[in-house]
Amino acid sequence: MTKAYDQFINLQKKLKEVSDLAGFSESFYNIIREPERIIEANIPVKMDDGTTKTFRAFRSAHSSALGPAKGGVRFDESVTYEEVKVLSTLMSLKVSLLGLPLGGGKGGIVVDPKKLSERELEALSRGFVRAINNYIGPRIDVPAPDVNTNAKIMGYFTDEYIALNGGKNDIATFTGKSTDMGGSLGRTEATGFGVYLTIKKYYEKIGKSLKGATFALQGFGNVGSYTAKYLVEDGAKLLAINSKDHNHPNSSYGVYDDKGLDIEKISEAKEKTGSELNIEGKKITDDEFFALDVDILIPAALENVIDETNAGNIKASLVVEAANGPVTEAGEAILNEKNIPLIPDILANSGGVLVSHYEWIQNISGSYWDEEEVRNKQEKDMGKAIEEVFATSEKYKVNYRQAAFILSLSRIEKALKLRGRI
Ligand code: NAD
Repeated sequence: MTKAYDQFINLQKKLKEVSDLAGFSESFYNIIREPERIIEANIPVKMDDGTTKTFRAFRSAHSSALGPAKGGVRFDESVTYEEVKVLSTLMSLKVSLLGLPLGGGKGGIVVDPKKLSERELEALSRGFVRAINNYIGPRIDVPAPDVNTNAKIMGYFTDEYIALNGGKNDIATFTGKSTDMGGSLGRTEATGFGVYLTIKKYYEKIGKSLKGATFALQGFGNVGSYTAKYLVEDGAKLLAINSKDHNHPNSSYGVYDDKGLDIEKISEAKEKTGSELNIEGKKITDDEFFALDVDILIPAALENVIDETNAGNIKASLVVEAANGPVTEAGEAILNEKNIPLIPDILANSGGVLVSHYEWIQNISGSYWDEEEVRNKQEKDMGKAIEEVFATSEKYKVNYRQAAFILSLSRIEKALKLRGRI
């Protein structure tokens, strides 16, 4: 069995466990345990050398109970049918947790985009839209960027969609577009800003100040760098980063400084040398990084990095899942035993999809917001979701992940009841 298949089975187990805990019916569980619709396509692309290659592609829409599906499309060799099922289900939970009128979607093409020329990449992107055209649209399913896709690819998607549909300028069919073609201001920093907001709210709840709080951060990409920026601006101290070793792509290490790392210098090193690790400080191993005596540990790079091999050594008093799925089930069980609270990914990194939702609203209404408006709205909307997770955790005496699942599922269940589906 593939890793993604195991993840899907584990996710179903978690959904069942939480459904039972909150008293949801078996009929409800049977609906949400599988996505509503999965499209599988074979996309032929005429390559530059004259041959034709076909690429496997998928698009899953998990639930239409609350609204159109929303979620990214990744271009990666690791994409599988099971992976899009898992990720679209988690997207349903994420958007529902934020109280958005959306369901979860996810798609992908099995391809290494680095091996394609620009023309081949554009042809593949347009072919994907032709394959799923009847099942996307502002009120059906709204794809967005994900691993190895970006605003440029959203441009190809949007252009192809408009051409296929009689020229109707439905730019709200995709989000994550460039701001020059309808993208929202504030999207780039939205996920990191949201991670910071969850930590700030947690600190307020426990009656502590972020001033002087120490943190260790894995990954200094889009999510990690903005998370660090906002935390440091609020007085927290970044003691260590961990990232990919650019000289040895299959390994990673960390850099530590007890006086605090300077994030400007990290960004500068990344820009000038290609690696955020080319900074002054003590070189530490991955194991040493995860065992650091810091207040907050933030994995913001990859999935499955905290597991049964290293969770026992964690000394941080809060773990925040800035990346998707960085803590395995076994890792989480150990954190639970050690009473180390964990803020789950579907809450911590939900700022990105929230601002994508704002893009959708702005495209549909034709009225655009400035950066301050986006920021204030994100703070308000995420603040509400965070408070609700804390309250649900207390009400049901469950951890934050279970609380987030209960909240999300209860909204989907209510909508399904009102629609007469259960
Ligand atoms: P990114 O590509 O911008 O950055 C990834 C970072 O991880 C880089 O610093 C990279 O060097 C580091 N990294 C890669 N391999 C590593 C390894 N083996 N060990 C340690 N570090 C490694 O990606 P991102 O957009 O910041 O996304 C990070 C995570 O957050 C992913 O799990 C992604 O799915 C999730 N996420 C991102 C967004 C978003 O808006 N970008 C939204 C929700 C969730």
